[in-house]
Amino acid sequence: MSGREGGDRRDMAIRGAAEALRPAMVAALKELVQIPSQTGEEGLVQEAVARLMRDHGLDVDVWEPDAATLAPHAESVTLGSGFAGRPNVVGVYRGSGGGRSLILNGHIDTVEIGDRGAWRRDPLGGDVVDGRLYGRGACDMKGGVIANLFAVRVLREAGIEPAGDVIVQSTISEEDGGAGALAAVLRGYVADAALISEPTNLAIVVAQGGSLMFRLVVPGLSAHACVRDEGVSAIEKFAYLHRGLLEFEARHNGEIAHPLYDGMVNKAPINIGTVRGGAWPSSVPEWLEAEGRAGLVPGESLAGMKRALSDEVARLADADPWLREHRPRIEWRDGHFAPAEVAVESPLVHTLSAAWRRVRRAEPAIEAVTYGADMRHFVLVGGMPCVMFGAGDVRLAHAPDEAIFLDDLVAAAAITATFTADWCGAG
Ligand SMILES: [Zn+2]
Repeated sequence: MSGREGGDRRDMAIRGAAEALRPAMVAALKELVQIPSQTGEEGLVQEAVARLMRDHGLDVDVWEPDAATLAPHAESVTLGSGFAGRPNVVGVYRGSGGGRSLILNGHIDTVEIGDRGAWRRDPLGGDVVDGRLYGRGACDMKGGVIANLFAVRVLREAGIEPAGDVIVQSTISEEDGGAGALAAVLRGYVADAALISEPTNLAIVVAQGGSLMFRLVVPGLSAHACVRDEGVSAIEKFAYLHRGLLEFEARHNGEIAHPLYDGMVNKAPINIGTVRGGAWPSSVPEWLEAEGRAGLVPGESLAGMKRALSDEVARLADADPWLREHRPRIEWRDGHFAPAEVAVESPLVHTLSAAWRRVRRAEPAIEAVTYGADMRHFVLVGGMPCVMFGAGDVRLAHAPDEAIFLDDLVAAAAITATFTADWCGAG
């Protein structure tokens, strides 16, 4: 038998095992979706994850991240009220020796359910309808956690033993900065590569944008509305600054030369998410506070973007008679996301692309995204090459009737298993 035939046979065994495990995968995903796990409340679902990992034959490590250890990174994660009752869960599948190691990461926390009236399906039901499983977290990203876990199970059922260690992670607190993934890196979980199974619609995402969280404080001068011209409206001054920030966004977009971001409508969006100001309908507002998010792309730094935004606000203030004397303030909130990327021409991307091609018999999409995720902790702190790849459409995440296509979930498990066997070496 030639090596090629052996490879084909192995690929077929993996695809067959993934398909045979579909009912178990669906049942496990349904179980996880039925346990709410909004960021901050991950304890209960992690018990179920730990049990699933043990059932799959992994050595399981459960620990609560330590706020003191994370403190030096406070700018990029949310320490909030700590991590009591919010453990990370990591399951290690020990390789037979000699191969490259691999981390398969997913976050278990979800955003809130939101307005239940907007859902047509039970957000905690895990209902399966027309090939989709519905519920909060189904695609972002309990589906990804399940795909990773079952990739290991698929290898076992197919009789394939990876040579390198496979480290399956279910981490907390991604939605507010990724304290869980960072804590896993700092605990020493470092491998030759990492894959995060965020919902990329099966695209291989090699670059993630960053985001900077800021607060803009705008002073005004109060006066009775009947003589409003004697006051200065902080709301009107904010409107001026906001327009200026959007012009800055357009100029910044024009300057970005990263090839993977070419053709995107907005490569580094600036969004004002909250505005509070004023005290009374018939008083000129003397203060306004806006909070926003400014995007950046790989190759740019948080420090550089902070400087650029500060300079822009200062320039806008200099050009306004009131703001020149009464300076607006820009402050930085916690929870920044530094951008991160891995080279398209890297062994990790090559190996994953090749596995993808063999399973799907087509070319994978290689993409960049404008949002921030945990990739940066693996790349920037852990020094590992890292990609994002997973089932699920990000447009269905964070929304009512969140769902995942089960065909894609099974495909993701098969591709991940094939890639794992190739990357780690397998007998
Ligand atoms: Zn996510």
